[in-house]
Amino acid sequence: MSRGTLIAGNWKMHETVPEAEQLIQALLPRVSSLDGVEIAICPPYTALAPMVDSARGSRVAIFAQNMHESERGAFTGEVSASMLVDLGVGGVIVGHSERRAFFGETDSRLAQKLPAALAAGLVPILCVGESEAQRAAGETEAHLRAQLEADFAAIEPARYAEVVVAYEPIWAIGTGRVATPEQAQEAVSFIRQVLAETSAAGAAQARLLYGGSVTADNAKELLALDDVDGALVGGASLSAESFATICAAARQ
Ligand code: PEP
Repeated sequence: MSRGTLIAGNWKMHETVPEAEQLIQALLPRVSSLDGVEIAICPPYTALAPMVDSARGSRVAIFAQNMHESERGAFTGEVSASMLVDLGVGGVIVGHSERRAFFGETDSRLAQKLPAALAAGLVPILCVGESEAQRAAGETEAHLRAQLEADFAAIEPARYAEVVVAYEPIWAIGTGRVATPEQAQEAVSFIRQVLAETSAAGAAQARLLYGGSVTADNAKELLALDDVDGALVGGASLSAESFATICAAARQ
């Protein structure tokens, strides 16, 4: 079944507003003719509003890198889903491994963030993935299952199709050690299988991405995999040329 392809670029804590402006102006003409590929970039909070303005009318959507699960309240430094929607943001990454590792993001909070994002009308990209030690110990599937079951706990099965899941093995993020096509396909098809235990239709329609050292050179092979419906790209999304090449590879 055709689920459509999504390529999302996570700029992380890079790019001031003038730098972000330069990057998006270099990107937009390079991807303008890529019909059929959904493209999102995830700038830091400070560049969200200017990037929404700059991307207006283009095929590039602007997503955030995180959000708070509450609608409002005494949560200094946090941003809610409706604040993102108010800016014209279309989606949000939740549960990135860097947020889990460095900022104490827990599965129980993700179980609240996912429904809050959907309720606000944002497309959530939920990140899951194992560490190197978990893979070496043969615990990859158990870990993925535990994350998925916890993070999806409050999602109605009828809404599974609206959640994008990015399989991001932690050992592949920012390391240049991309998963082999076999590893990526095996993990992503396992994710679909776990989702199908609760919602067969939702699992068949949900878009599943691969993330972890995706580059202009390896994207084609990864994006050709049966269960991979796109990519979450970190480092390579900071080059307009590389990111556009990855987006073009999704068109095959
Ligand atoms: C990421 O941070 O989500 C990511 C996949 O990074 P990189 O592409 O740099 O490995």
